[in-house]
Amino acid sequence: MHPLLCHARPLVISLLLLAPGVAAANETAAAAPAAKAVVPEQLPPSIQPLKPADHSAAVNNKAMVERSRPVKKKVVHRPAVKHPPAAAGHEEHDELGKVRSLVQAMVAANQRYMKSKPAAYFERFASKQTPRATVVTCSDSRVQSNAFHSDAVNDLFVVRNIGNQLVTAEGSVEYGVRHLHTPLLMFIGHAVCGAIQAASGDFSNLERPIQKELLTINIPKGIAINDGVLLNVNNQVDAAIMKFGGEVESGKLAVVGAFYDFRNDYKQGRGKLIITNINGETDPARLAALAKAGNFFSAATGMAPLNASH
Ligand SMILES: [Zn+2]
Repeated sequence: MHPLLCHARPLVISLLLLAPGVAAANETAAAAPAAKAVVPEQLPPSIQPLKPADHSAAVNNKAMVERSRPVKKKVVHRPAVKHPPAAAGHEEHDELGKVRSLVQAMVAANQRYMKSKPAAYFERFASKQTPRATVVTCSDSRVQSNAFHSDAVNDLFVVRNIGNQLVTAEGSVEYGVRHLHTPLLMFIGHAVCGAIQAASGDFSNLERPIQKELLTINIPKGIAINDGVLLNVNNQVDAAIMKFGGEVESGKLAVVGAFYDFRNDYKQGRGKLIITNINGETDPARLAALAKAGNFFSAATGMAPLNASH
């Protein structure tokens, strides 16, 4: 058996254990202590104390003008990727209609947003951002922060890429952890992730840059898609613990893995954010206890030994 598969198996059980409806059908679950379903709490809106407005970093208009002057550069356009021919030219018209209505809708939504927020709302973060979490999610359009945060503005430093990976956005993640000093680093995978599906099969026919971002997803070929998502989240947590070991060990950084289940694949409710990993800990009973007690730092949890393959 592939060593990664060994790693994957307890994960599946872990999640099943977290699902009360499914646990009864699972022998291992029956033998384990009754683990209550982990109910990840929604992060409350930022409670960072407000600081007086600091306009010392006011925009230097001259510099801005200098920068905004068009630089005459020879632009080389690459030919567009050829797609199958559009059906009788209708597609182009439809695409134009889509873009028009979307841009108009976005402008209108922005107008409503501007009107809905008092100046004080923007003043809070006009000079500095103070997020509490660096969150790495998949770019999938079905995964958005409003599913797990009432207002992520100035509270979540969000990094997105295909397959919610550390390595393909390492600088961005490092910036969140080491420069913005977010005490939480969270990796969120999701149901039926296309990146995971692609990585588990043959993707040699895809564009090189896409291949490059799939090669770093270490899952066995042919693995069931949600199992692959869970394994990948654990791999990301492990990689983050390796990279930010000092911060994790000293209790300054909690690394958490989660699965966003918008299809209710694990029978805990459609749209559930299921915590699947806390600082490398994936045992369902331990996870439930840690989450219930709010013990997210390794000082309290103890770090789980890393898999030798990482
Ligand atoms: Zn995805």
